[in-house]
Formats: sequence, C-alpha cells, structure tokens
Amino acid sequence: MLEKILIANRGEIALRILRACREMGIKTVAVHSTADRELKHVRLADESVCIGPPSSLDSYLNIPAIICAAEVTNASAIHPGYGFLSENAEFAEQVESSGFKFIGPSAKSIRTMGDKVAAIKAMKAAGVPTVPGSDGPLNDDKDRNLQLARDIGYPVIIKAAGGGGGRGMRVVNAEGSLLNSIQLTRSEAGAAFGNDTVYMEKFLEKPRHVEIQVLSDSQGNAIHLAERDCSMQRRHQKVVEEAPAPGITPEQRAEIGNRCAEACKATGYEGAGTFEFLYENGEFYFIEMNTRVQVEHPVTELITGVDIIREQISIASGNPLRFSQEDIKVRGHAIECRINAEDSHTFMPSPGTITMYHPPGGPGVRLDTHIYSGYTVPPYYDSMIGKLITYGNTRESAIARMKVALSEIVIDGIKTNIELHQDIINDGNFEAGGADIHYLEKKLGLS
Ligand code: ADP
Repeated sequence: MLEKILIANRGEIALRILRACREMGIKTVAVHSTADRELKHVRLADESVCIGPPSSLDSYLNIPAIICAAEVTNASAIHPGYGFLSENAEFAEQVESSGFKFIGPSAKSIRTMGDKVAAIKAMKAAGVPTVPGSDGPLNDDKDRNLQLARDIGYPVIIKAAGGGGGRGMRVVNAEGSLLNSIQLTRSEAGAAFGNDTVYMEKFLEKPRHVEIQVLSDSQGNAIHLAERDCSMQRRHQKVVEEAPAPGITPEQRAEIGNRCAEACKATGYEGAGTFEFLYENGEFYFIEMNTRVQVEHPVTELITGVDIIREQISIASGNPLRFSQEDIKVRGHAIECRINAEDSHTFMPSPGTITMYHPPGGPGVRLDTHIYSGYTVPPYYDSMIGKLITYGNTRESAIARMKVALSEIVIDGIKTNIELHQDIINDGNFEAGGADIHYLEKKLGLS
C-alpha cells in the first residue's frame, strides 16, 4: 500500500481523504494556502506545507508548488480530490514524471474525457448510448450543418468540446438561428476554453440527470456501483443527490452499469469515475465522464457499503479490485444535501466566522464537513461547507431522517442554504421522486 499521501485539495474532501488514509495506516501531507491554516485536516495531518497565497491560481492550482511539497515531504502519491487540478491531464503527467503516483486515471484518459467530442466517440465505440448528434465536430459547411440539424430534429444544442461547468452551450429552437448560434458558440468557446471546436446534439427537453459510478483497477477489472440521481440542479450545479435513482429497475441498472464497466475495460481506465447520462423516456444518453471522485460519492457508499476513497487508494497502490460485480448489492436509499455558505434566497455567498455549530445525529445520519465552532469560512473558494447525508431502508425513511437532521443542524454566524434544503425535502414533487433537471429552477421561479 502507498505509504504517504499528499492531499492536493481543501475543505470537506481533503478531510474525507485524510480520514481514509488514517484508517488505512497511511501517512498524510496537507497542503494549504495562507487563508487555510485553520482547516481541520491541516491540523490533523501528519505534516502540512503552505503552498501559496489565498488565490487558488497561486496555491491549489500551483502545480510546481504542490510537486515541491511532495518532494520535501517525501510523499509517495498525490490525491487530487475533486475540482482544482483533479481533471488536469498536465498535472497528472507532471506528478507521474516527478516520480509520484497520481491517484486517478492516466493523463491520457483524463485528456480524452476532457474533450467531449473525443469522449463521446470513445464511449460510442465502447457501446455506451449517446445523445443523437453530429458525431464529431461541426465544420463551416453551412448546408451540412443545416441538414444535420434537420436530421436530428429541433430543438438542438450546440456545445463546446472543451466546455465545462455548464458553460459553452446554446439551445437552438428553429432553423433560422442555427448558423448564427454555431458561430457565436464557436467564438465564445475559443475565447473561454482556448478551443473553438463545437458539436451538435439533440436537445432533450425533460431529462433527468442519472450517473453511474465505476471502479476500475490496473489489471483490467471493472465494476459499477449503481446509479445516482442528481436532477435537483441550479445553474447546472447539483444541489441534492440520491442513490439509487427513483424508478430505475434492477434490469436497467445492470444493463447500463455493465456497459460502463465494459467501457472502462475497453479504454484501459484506472480508478474511480462517473459516467453522466441524461435519462428521458426510459433511455440513457451519455453526456460526459468525470475522471475523479465526485462530491456526491457518499450516497453510493451508503447503499453499497463500498468506501470509494479507500478503493481509489487501493487501486492506485496496484491492488486488484476487492469486489466482483456479484458482491455489489444495492441496499436501502441515501440522500445528500450540499450545505453551502450562501443565502437561501439570493444565493449570495456568505463567508465569515461560524459562531456556533451543532451537528445533527441519530441513525442513518452522516455529515461530511470540515467546519467547527469558531471556524472562519474564507471568501476565496467554493461556498460548499459540507454535505448532510441520510440513509434509510426506504426512500421515505431517508427523507424522514433528512427532515429531522435539517431541523437539528445549527450553523450560526453565517448564512446557509439549509432553508432551501428544507423547502426541497418537503416538496411534493421531490417526495414523489423523478423530477427533471429543470424542476428546481422552475420551482424557484428562475426559469
Ligand atoms: P458540463 O461539462 O459543462 O457540465 P455537460 O455536457 O455535462 O456539460 O452538460 C451540462 C448540463 O447541460 C446537463 O446536466 C444538462 O442540464 C444540460 N445539457 C447538456 N446537453 C444536453 C442535451 N443534449 N439536452 C438537454 N440538456 C443538455
């Protein structure tokens, strides 16, 4: 097993990784910015290194500083968490060429999946169902583009191959605006992502976001850990996630899950990953793959009993998967609410000092957070300060426990979105299950 892991992240995920390492008897190195000296995992780590000023560009995105920290502490591997450098192929490459193990897939896998046109092509070849579309980049042939859209059928969506975070896409409802929209998306993509490649897909009007978690080792074994439903979104950001997805049958799960696992084998994928799909009228349509651990991984851990971070570390250590597909059983239901330091109504970030903190508890309640009474949420980073996750034998029981947990949790001194979560958890359509990706914005009057 790897002996010492440098955690190239902050906040709750850094603490989550630290805890997995401590359980496994692995030494830890925390790296942090000058604004993050008081982070819980920095205090708990065996060693810590300050890698720069508050700005992420100068600290958590500062590749030479992170590699230097690994060198001076003699770390054996680097865990990138999510966000920051976790899907940066250049980083993965430099980590490995400096003699450290990158806990994640190869730079080549990251690069392929980071280019959506290449990712869709690879997945299609591996038998994963994709959205009907242009099957490759659009060129400047106007007649071809008009014909493509007619064949696909309006509405269509023009997307940037290098896009991310919900940016770089444009919906086209009718032929009259197609050519102009392609041009606009192309020039925006060039400016924003340094890559003006765009492609076309059928725009699905009422899909749900359903994703498959996979684990794949370096010896060619791959399994899936069932699916999550992440349809409760605002501005393409997930707000509430759950596993399993309401209404997905065991047969559907096995069918799509096995295809994803097979795709991992076919592409030589290593580590944990997520295949994101839009799901509409009983069909799955691949949109992209995330080549890292995801924020919402705990709901999968609770329904399968698999510790995903532990498995990432084990796979990176060169061990074969410790589970076969038959070992994976879906039991019960789990829901996650992302707790953000922000106003429940205006969504304005609310950094500041937490004057009082009381976590909820009881059976089936898990809280992944780095906050404590007296902790100051800095203004420089993402506003997520924790994840409240509940588990029950049934979806109803997980919801009932979430209602109790949300009523117990106290975070004073800053604003949080707990009220928004109470609103969602008590919403009749959420309780019914299966709301589409536009539901939350409509409910909030945002679209
Ligand atoms: P990003 O990498 O920016 O997150 P995705 O390709 O994952 O981009 O798409 C983000 C979101 O955009 C999806 O969750 C969905 O809400 C919407 N979207 C993308 N493609 C389509 C499509 N073909 N039809 C309908 N909505 C789409």
